[in-house]
Amino acid sequence: MESAPFSKLISAIEPSQTLAIDSRAKALRAAGKDVIGFGAGEPDFDTPESVKEAARKALSRGYTKYTPPEGDRALREAVAAKLERDNGVRYTPEQIVISCGAKHSLYNTAMVLCNPGDEFIIFSPYWVTYPAQVIMAGGTPVFVSTSPEDGYRIDAGRLRSAVSRRTKAIILNSPNNPTGWVASREELEAVAAVAIEHGLFVISDEIYEKIIYPPAEHTSIASLGKDIRELTILINGVSKSYSMTGWRIGYLAAAQEIAKLATRIQSHSTSNPTSIAQAAALEALNGDQGFTAMMAREFLKRRDYLHKRLSALPGVSCFSPRGAFYAFPDISGLNMKSDEFSIQLLEKVLVAVVAGRTFGSDYNIRLSFATSMENLEKGMDRIEGFIKSKL
Ligand code: PMP
Ligand code: GLU
Repeated sequence: MESAPFSKLISAIEPSQTLAIDSRAKALRAAGKDVIGFGAGEPDFDTPESVKEAARKALSRGYTKYTPPEGDRALREAVAAKLERDNGVRYTPEQIVISCGAKHSLYNTAMVLCNPGDEFIIFSPYWVTYPAQVIMAGGTPVFVSTSPEDGYRIDAGRLRSAVSRRTKAIILNSPNNPTGWVASREELEAVAAVAIEHGLFVISDEIYEKIIYPPAEHTSIASLGKDIRELTILINGVSKSYSMTGWRIGYLAAAQEIAKLATRIQSHSTSNPTSIAQAAALEALNGDQGFTAMMAREFLKRRDYLHKRLSALPGVSCFSPRGAFYAFPDISGLNMKSDEFSIQLLEKVLVAVVAGRTFGSDYNIRLSFATSMENLEKGMDRIEGFIKSKL
């Protein structure tokens, strides 16, 4: 296929491994295997009934046609109200674009910002989709490492030395997938100072905002002041907060010029996110928020359990996640790289995890604890047995 007449940019990326692992686990389960899935990054709770009801009502009243490409105005108003209420940051509906999931909002952002060869700074370990999207947009990912020894904190000096003439943006993801790091205000201030000094955009992916474990708190970098707000593209959505991964509704909030360009892309690509899903997202944002709080409390119990079990394993150490629903243990003490570990784990004891290589860290594995306590117990027993058999 050396001379295949396909796009070099698209040929250079791998399929999403986070989605691939999930599909593999689901296929094995469909084939009758008793697989425990720690792969999927999606809440195991059902979408709240009130949200489903809003979708049913939208169907009944015939809300089944095109909406504006930037999304329904009522939903953009609801997003603006949410951003002011929860994050203390003011946007007009004209600065908000609704897309088919936060992943799509991120993709639009990369497309809007990137000229060939522009550099995007990504903190490593990173969510696999960031470098892939930068490459698809014709840019170059530049990695700045963070490490569990100092809680994955952003080192401002390291960040500064990664900035070059070609740097266009810094991608920030707090609460973090896969590490569970949550940015402190001081870290955000340091990032904002670098961005303002060099005129860099900050793409702030806040999709796990609501899945956070006290005393950690979520701060949006856009709330730190007018200068940084103008440089920030704030990304969020309903997938994680309301267990609505399949509905595909995410959004960006940014300077109006950026929102206009993102809308232009949608007007020529997806047209608009599904009208029915937009009606459901409107209810999610405007309705009772008790569901989200309940889910976060459940995740906290699971975080505590999983962290305790992982930390007790020989050859394994684990940072205690402060947000999101992933544990990212270090397995370097087992002398196995992450691909080999995860393949063997699935083959031998039917537990699906994602190899750390996917996130730029080859001696870690990622376990999603968006699964029942029963599955966590069963899966951890199997992992423990697997690891002991290797010693
Ligand atoms: N950002 C991060 C860090 C994620 O883990 C995910 C996973 N779904 C997304 C964005 C995309 O979310 P959505 O389902 O809204 O596209
Ligand atoms: N974000 C989730 C994960 O990291 C879901 C899969 C995806 O969107 O890539 O597992």
